[in-house]
Amino acid sequence: MERMQQVVGRARAAFSSGRCRSLEFRLQQLKNLERMVREKEKEILAALQSDLHKSGHNAYSHEILGVLVELALVMEKLPSWAAPQPVKKNLLTMRDEAYIYPEPLGVVLVIGAWNYPFVLVMQPLIGAIAAGNAVVVKPSEVSEHTSQLIADILPQYLDRELYPVVTGGVPETTELLTQRFDHILYTGNTAVGKIVMAAAAKHLTPVTLELGGKSPCYIDGAVSYTHLDVYKRQGHEDVSGLLWAHRWQWGLEGAESPCCCRRITWGKYMNCGQTCIAPDYILCEPSIQSQVVENIKATLQEFYGEDVKKSPDYERIVNKRHFRRIVSLLEGQKIAHGGETDEASCFIAPTILTDVSAESKVMEEEIFGPVLPIVSVKGVDEAIEFINSREKPLALYVFSNDKKLIKRVISETSSGGMTANDVIMHSTVLDMPFGGVGNSGMGAYHGKHSFETFSHHRACLIKDLKMEGMNKLRYPPGSQKKLDW
Ligand code: NAD
Repeated sequence: MERMQQVVGRARAAFSSGRCRSLEFRLQQLKNLERMVREKEKEILAALQSDLHKSGHNAYSHEILGVLVELALVMEKLPSWAAPQPVKKNLLTMRDEAYIYPEPLGVVLVIGAWNYPFVLVMQPLIGAIAAGNAVVVKPSEVSEHTSQLIADILPQYLDRELYPVVTGGVPETTELLTQRFDHILYTGNTAVGKIVMAAAAKHLTPVTLELGGKSPCYIDGAVSYTHLDVYKRQGHEDVSGLLWAHRWQWGLEGAESPCCCRRITWGKYMNCGQTCIAPDYILCEPSIQSQVVENIKATLQEFYGEDVKKSPDYERIVNKRHFRRIVSLLEGQKIAHGGETDEASCFIAPTILTDVSAESKVMEEEIFGPVLPIVSVKGVDEAIEFINSREKPLALYVFSNDKKLIKRVISETSSGGMTANDVIMHSTVLDMPFGGVGNSGMGAYHGKHSFETFSHHRACLIKDLKMEGMNKLRYPPGSQKKLDW
């Protein structure tokens, strides 16, 4: 307890010294962070390899590139984000200065998760530094190599008092959470999110909770209505037969096409399914299920070759606890592809489950592994009903040739974010907020949204001491007001 008190106390004293308030200081720290990422790239990649079997290319693009891109954006935009924003004035404030001044909150706690152990700590850290805060960083103990590396290298590049790293698991985090912070950003599962929020409530500390959930992926099997309209305009009555003929002849496909399935396969099996916004399960009509399976199987071969176990691009489950949890989800399921496991190396092959019941165990909890269940629905109405009958997910995906259908799914459902006709990609647009809703989280970050999350937007009004006559309007006695009117 004493140790945590000291760490947070030192960070608070450093914040109170005022040194992290100046823009120059913040930019310098961000530059140092950039230098750290570039100079320690090899060590970071090695730690990711040890923790998750992440290969050079995957690790670089998922974890390092994301941090460098965020740093570049923040360093370029910070001067304009941090500048006071003038607001519209009224009759009574016409001669005054009125503006919104973004000010730092104080000491921020960032708690990271293990699945993207570097970027999930660095990205919030960048935003919190940019906003002028002191930051206590708590990486996940599950990804122990990356966690230790962050603790070793961060103090070599950043101000040690302002940005301390605390390593450890539940006991350490529990102790840390008894301390008073000015904001907490937590990434991890929903159950612990509630613990974090309860601890924060004791100090009235605001929280950003980046949680998870089961992100659905609806595949619309229908061929584009545009083609339907063309046929109808040409005077054809029985368009359905024509459409099927067209499909065979010209390769015109519904959203179960190889292109759509390739995108789904990429997002589902990257990082061995351990991605918070991975498509958790597929919803589609029974008539296209086998085509979906075939297309995903073909893509898996394309991505990982004949023997996925030997592929340097295929990761492993982080530990035995999660391995056993995921394997238990396969019990009693119809395995259309994959299903091979090896506990010693925490290997689970990319797996597809078909005709999955909505009530089965695999449909209860977030899978967070390379298992893709396909649940049948009769069409978009039932898909929307299915999605809305469950907790609000972190992401939602819909594949369709029909823009109207996509817009309908957007307006009739809710999720943290969404992408149509692809997966994951909304998280790469830095101008968009990244966060959940309902059970999948609260608040958001990335790019400018991180800066806003870690700033207080202070309303500032600097009055002019002249024109006192105008103020009679608001001073007593009331009779004088009437007279002046
Ligand atoms: P985890 O086990 O690494 O836990 C996250 C953090 O919480 C760790 O730093 C850990 O030390 C701490 N923690 C664990 N138990 C605690 C307790 N009882 N009290 C206090 N602190 C505790 O990660 P996880 O929870 O297994 O992460 C996976 C989950 O995170 C999934 O649900 C996934 O969807 C979600 N996730 C969300 C995002 C996002 O950006 N929304 C990103 C990654 C992961």
